[in-house]
Amino acid sequence: LKRKARELERAALPIDQAAVLGAGIMGGGIAYQSASKGIPILMKDIREPALQLGLSEAAKLLEKRMEKGHMTTADMARAMGAIRPTLSYGDFAGVDIVVEAVVENPKVKREVLAEVERAVRADAIIASNTSTISINQLAAALQHPENFCGMHFFNPVHMMPLVEVVRGEKTSETAIATTVAYARKLGKSPIVVNDCPGFLVNRILFPYFGGFARLVAAGLDIQRIDMVMERFGWPMGPAYLLDVVGIDTAHHARTVMVEGFPERMRDEGPTAIDALYQAQRLGQKSGAGFYRYE
Ligand code: NAD
Repeated sequence: LKRKARELERAALPIDQAAVLGAGIMGGGIAYQSASKGIPILMKDIREPALQLGLSEAAKLLEKRMEKGHMTTADMARAMGAIRPTLSYGDFAGVDIVVEAVVENPKVKREVLAEVERAVRADAIIASNTSTISINQLAAALQHPENFCGMHFFNPVHMMPLVEVVRGEKTSETAIATTVAYARKLGKSPIVVNDCPGFLVNRILFPYFGGFARLVAAGLDIQRIDMVMERFGWPMGPAYLLDVVGIDTAHHARTVMVEGFPERMRDEGPTAIDALYQAQRLGQKSGAGFYRYE
């Protein structure tokens, strides 16, 4: 394993300049993480307010670190200076790796990937942060699918150590090695997985959520289930986790998992997650999900 890791390290291209497409929850988090680890990043969106929000979220996180004494005012200024917001692809010729983190819509993602490929050098690595869309399907939009892979961060980016680096059928070892190296530079623990519905983490999480939904249907109290899982040693129980993930995100991902693994992920009909989704109780982001948030 160590030998494989060393080989992978040697195959990585240098990363001096990164870019992220989308300045939303994930894009903003990726920009913050890259800048705070000293890798300059261009943050592109199609809306100026999104860029402002991405920047202000990064500033908030950096201020918190400063208050805790983890960085100086000069470090903070340097990190903020390392995030360059933009509405255009003007400076993308100098980019070594791009992380695409726009809305989870295959058509939009394919268009954006084809666009960015025209703006970067031919050897630049392009990685998608998609949670549910097939990497092979997205790769079809590109002239150089060998330079493309998945780079699946978890929310919130600055807190979650794991990153799934997803290998498509045409992904080169250089693309994998460079994406793994970038994840390491960001202080993350990358794992390389093959392209399949749910990659690896959601293949574990969704059967677990299914078990939780069955207990709820059987009449168990959600707070008690959460409490049991917390006492078991997990940082939070399934109901709270689903509220953090977002009920809409979970609902969509479950549909993808049922389609991808019909024999394993039986569609058991409407569950508590579906009921919340129908009621648009989307979790923390909407003020109510399994729990209410004031
Ligand atoms: P979001 O809605 O917060 O942000 C998406 C951003 O993309 C918006 O700012 C939007 O203006 C921008 N955008 C749309 N079209 C664009 C374009 N053509 N070019 C540049 N920017 C464009 O979404 P998010 O939650 O940050 O999710 C982004 C991606 O990350 C999705 O693929 C999602 O599946 C994935 N993801 C999300 C989470 C999560 O928990 N939120 C976790 C892991 C992965």
